[in-house]
Amino acid sequence: MRAVLLLAAALLLASAAAAEPCDLVLRGGRVLDPESGLDAVRDVGLRAGRIVALSETPLEGREVVDVAGLVVAPGFIDLHEHGQNAASHALHVRDGVTTALDLEAGAWPVAPFYAEREGRTLVHFGVSVGHIPARVKLMHGFAIGHRPTSAGRETGVRGALQRLVERFYRPTAYAQDAATPAQREELLALLGEGLDAGALGIGMGLDYTPGADDDEIRAVFALAAARGVPVLVHMRGSAPSDGASPLDALLAHAEATGAALHVFHLGSSGGPRAPAYLERIAAARAHGLDVTTEVYPYTASSTYLETALFDDGWRERLGLDYGDLQWAATGERLTAESFARYRKQGGMVIAHGMKAELVDALVASPDVIIASDGMPFFEAKVHPRGAGSFARVLGRHVRERQALSLMAALRKMTLLPAQRLEGFAPAFRDKGRVRVGADADLTVFDPARVRDRATFEDPFQPSAGIVHVLVGGVFVVRDEANVPGVAPGRGMKAGKQEGGA
Ligand SMILES: [Zn+2]
Repeated sequence: MRAVLLLAAALLLASAAAAEPCDLVLRGGRVLDPESGLDAVRDVGLRAGRIVALSETPLEGREVVDVAGLVVAPGFIDLHEHGQNAASHALHVRDGVTTALDLEAGAWPVAPFYAEREGRTLVHFGVSVGHIPARVKLMHGFAIGHRPTSAGRETGVRGALQRLVERFYRPTAYAQDAATPAQREELLALLGEGLDAGALGIGMGLDYTPGADDDEIRAVFALAAARGVPVLVHMRGSAPSDGASPLDALLAHAEATGAALHVFHLGSSGGPRAPAYLERIAAARAHGLDVTTEVYPYTASSTYLETALFDDGWRERLGLDYGDLQWAATGERLTAESFARYRKQGGMVIAHGMKAELVDALVASPDVIIASDGMPFFEAKVHPRGAGSFARVLGRHVRERQALSLMAALRKMTLLPAQRLEGFAPAFRDKGRVRVGADADLTVFDPARVRDRATFEDPFQPSAGIVHVLVGGVFVVRDEANVPGVAPGRGMKAGKQEGGA
């Protein structure tokens, strides 16, 4: 009898909870969920930052927003976004992004990266512990934090000092020197410190650190395996005559250590070998390795001219010539003379060199994640990919060319990046999905109008057709405009966390 009463009470409570109005209802949109395959008109009910109902009949809410004719998708998760500042995030959300992570360059130290941003960002954010900044600390003794957007570069005495150091003392040992066995141990300890602070993996940019030898790279993979995090790698370029591919070397490290591997920007890193690399990755996955890759939907890459990427031999290694390089600040194409001058000065360069057919094939390939590799929007001019990558895929590749279905494209922007990380950071199990219980990170867009507008001439143009964006149930874009004064983003860290962020 007592049990029956308890059961009745529980049922009453449950039905009361269901009847409780939602904080917000998105009414009558076309809901697409790549995990369940749901593609149907539903009311989506949100409460306390989560999705609490998906209903064929109208839901009650304190606020109801009519989204008929629009697509309701999981918020886009960008694994590769160097722009970790407010100006960049303001453009990211207009492109539908609700989580922006820099897992490539990463940071060292890691703890301040999270502490400086918690409670202050539009989107969820996160970082890897960076092999490059850890090597700078090891070889030169100073911490560069998160270099692409280092807050210290923009303000304060520390920033002014750091700019002076960088101007008059351009350190190169971190890039060129091999580590001694003792230094290798120290480097692993620095990386371990970053993992202790919650970094989502270990980021490596091997084109920028030619001094890192195979023993060092293998040791980094072993550390990642031991700590249960992935290694995320910008692999080295190599001349076609080099024989064994840089990808094979990485796959061998992954196989020997058991570490999970993510390979960045297969378009720029793979070049003409990209289709062969994709086959190698598929074979490795079939063989049981945890390997993923990504692409940004542009035929030009972008980086800093002063880095080791452009050390002697770059033309053969990268398959590029002077005239393929564009000085971002002025838009001019380089010559041997201006190359030498600007390399001394240092700054951002755009490299036009990828074949459109190769990039298009990667964008359409079902298992290749879409990630922007966006550069920070505080420089005068940067590559537009940080502002337009996601809308560009939805507009050009899905709508105009019909190279892939809308569901397939959304899967590559939401579910796949969430799945890439959820084994290491369980909070991602509730992201990248539109299902009851998932986080209310949602992107609502007009499939007939969505498109990128950022160009190399004007990279600050927000995408069109991204109508509403919610982060943790809070509007960050509403009626195609940024919402001022909100900061619902949370730090995404490896391991279990309090509060479900
Ligand atoms: Zn890269």
